[in-house]
Amino acid sequence: EQTPLHIVPGPQRAPRGSERRCKSWKAEAALRMLLNNLDDEVAEEPEKLIVYGGSGKAARDWDCLRSIVTTLERLEPDETLLVQSGKPVGVFRTTEDAPRVLIANSNLVGNWANWEHFRKLEAEGKMMFGQMTAGSWIYIGSQGIVQGTYETFAAAAKKHFGGDLRGRLVVTAGLGGMGGAQPLAATMNNAVCLAAEVDPKRIEKRLETRYTDEMMTDVDAAIDRALELKAKGEARSIGVVCNAVELLERMIARDIVPDILTDQTSAHDPLGGYVPRDMALSDAFALRESDPDEYQRRSFATMVDHVKAMNELQRRGADTFDYGNNLRGHAQEAGLENAFEFEGFVPKYVRPLFCEGKGPFRWAALSGDPQDIAVTDRIVRELFPHDTALLRWLDMAAERIEFQGLPARICWLGYGDRAKAGLAFNEAVRRGEISAPLAIGRDHLDCGSVASPNRETEAMKDGTDAVADWPLLNCMLNVASGAAWVSFHHGGGVGMGYSLHCGQVSVADGTPQAQAALERVLTNDCGTGVMRHADAGYEEAIDCARERHIDLPMIDG
Ligand code: NAD
Repeated sequence: EQTPLHIVPGPQRAPRGSERRCKSWKAEAALRMLLNNLDDEVAEEPEKLIVYGGSGKAARDWDCLRSIVTTLERLEPDETLLVQSGKPVGVFRTTEDAPRVLIANSNLVGNWANWEHFRKLEAEGKMMFGQMTAGSWIYIGSQGIVQGTYETFAAAAKKHFGGDLRGRLVVTAGLGGMGGAQPLAATMNNAVCLAAEVDPKRIEKRLETRYTDEMMTDVDAAIDRALELKAKGEARSIGVVCNAVELLERMIARDIVPDILTDQTSAHDPLGGYVPRDMALSDAFALRESDPDEYQRRSFATMVDHVKAMNELQRRGADTFDYGNNLRGHAQEAGLENAFEFEGFVPKYVRPLFCEGKGPFRWAALSGDPQDIAVTDRIVRELFPHDTALLRWLDMAAERIEFQGLPARICWLGYGDRAKAGLAFNEAVRRGEISAPLAIGRDHLDCGSVASPNRETEAMKDGTDAVADWPLLNCMLNVASGAAWVSFHHGGGVGMGYSLHCGQVSVADGTPQAQAALERVLTNDCGTGVMRHADAGYEEAIDCARERHIDLPMIDG
């Protein structure tokens, strides 16, 4: 018997080791991953329960966090805890195979699905913003996004630059929880990266974890330094303390065109995330509190300038894409007619992967032992010896990724391969080669789990960008298949009114029950991605469904 955890407001640390305090490993995994989301190394602002992505939280408030933890500690192996926007609201008897936790975060009825209504409820303590993996307890720090960003830059390299970005300049902005992965992903592709970030603390954090190499405060000096590195073909990254617009307008004035241009400021949130131009950061933070309307007016105006500058640099030849923060959507809302002149990264680079069920699959070692991840890395290498891109990623990850919180690994795997990996991991836990169970999950940004017309489902072939039946089906199937916890959220990535999405996490504890559940969940979850894209008419998805014998009645029926 372990003593109950005592939760004190502030950064948390997940319990480690192979002894559980909960009555099942599924509940224990949920407890550890929840607290891991609030680890100092993982969360952006753990003292406010904020994990990443503007105001993406893990629990609604400290009382709720305490109650979730004590409820998980007492939860019977056949009970299910229900969480509504970060608050534990009920425990019901289900079955041992059912999820231990079901989570619904930030969902609002269509007509009310906007930031204004949400903020009112949030201020009254009735809701919280769950982002994608913050409120669904499977955020693993910046690594979660490194591989996706690496693959996106690699795809751009392949399409436009002969497969290598050496001697190329990537310009972007926003070095937060997700955006902080960009400099590392760019240098992994041998590029020079120049990133604008208004908050020097964020750059310092990226220097500490070696995601960024240098920090500068003078915009012109930073541009000069980037050009010098580009000329030498050195793969290095610079974070420059300034507003994104300031950097881009300066580049336009000096007639310097980046090779690749994107942005990951938290533009999905015009109040709590994005920072308007021409303001000291402390003044901006003060204005957020004192006059939110004025703050948002300025935020929207800056986003218009921001997109205008990106449009201009695209016209001058920069390979430009939106990186999933709804910058274009908000600039359009603010009146900019040609806000969608540059494409989103999903239709441009990621959709072919989604058609094969590929997406950001990930797992965390609940033991806290990095050695367990080394074992999983070895297993993945043995399972997929011919996937050279995957092997190259594993080499680089082992060498350059610092673990944050519980050791974890991300690998974009597709239909069939996720189940293969999950089953092999479960076997390794059973044999004791891995010292404690693994939590196996994914981002909500995945092939079958999300409807987000300005991001994952932008420009679908059949015009079904805004159809949210698909993530709901994905959610229900994950529950029916027996994941350990399943979540359904609104507004992740792109903000209120713009997305609906589902997450699942399963647990490999070495038991036959886990083996059966992993096979079902990991097969079915990405199967819905192939299904969704086949239904929309993508040939790659239809071929994949035929080859893998996925039963789609209206495709082959
Ligand atoms: P975050 O809130 O942790 O970081 C955002 C950073 O942007 C902060 O450090 C902030 O100081 C900085 N910033 C804000 N406005 C700025 C401006 N005008 N100029 C320069 N810097 C500015 O958010 P995050 O987790 O890094 O996510 C960033 C965005 O990317 C979000 O909108 C998120 O929804 C989106 N996102 C995209 C993907 C993807 O795969 N493409 C995945 C996750 C999140």
